[in-house]
Amino acid sequence: MPVVDEVLAANGQYAASFGAKGELALPPARRFAILTCMDARLDPAKYAGLSEGDAHVIRNAGGRASDDAIRSLVISYKLLGTREWFVIHHTNCGMEFFTDDVMRGLLESSLETAALDANGFHDVGTGPGSTEAKYIDWLTISNTRGAVTDDVRRIRHHPLVPASIPIHGFIYEVETGRLVEVPAATAAGAAR
Ligand SMILES: [Zn+2]
Repeated sequence: MPVVDEVLAANGQYAASFGAKGELALPPARRFAILTCMDARLDPAKYAGLSEGDAHVIRNAGGRASDDAIRSLVISYKLLGTREWFVIHHTNCGMEFFTDDVMRGLLESSLETAALDANGFHDVGTGPGSTEAKYIDWLTISNTRGAVTDDVRRIRHHPLVPASIPIHGFIYEVETGRLVEVPAATAAGAAR
């Protein structure tokens, strides 16, 4: 079955038992937001116990505090009233397996999907590629705990983020499903 048909079949079942969720309020009921990675193994609704309407979940590659992630967090607080934020990266993140230079080289030779083996990513597809990747900061990760701390610190010091919001830093273990706090990150993100 084509993926789009699978998605629509699943959605039909979901909508059939939608119940009172159509009456949920726009602001998140539990007043918190999570910034986390797009990795398919992570399901924030499950690992953090969320139901529809509970919390904001902002996702990107790595769960990094990019300008756009901060845009969403500022909207989350300023317009929709969240009071506490979490930055949650994870073990075995794909963002640890390449650098800006690697990504730029791969995209310069081919736009097709690269292969990953013990030596890292390498191209198996054909060109043409593009040099446009040189203009993007890919926000790769060389140190998992350090990246969580860097991201919490960046959010903490952003001029549009009020000092009163606690920002917690965690690593989700894909091997166990557990959230492990990064004390240096949480300390950097403490409310003032
Ligand atoms: Zn990841």
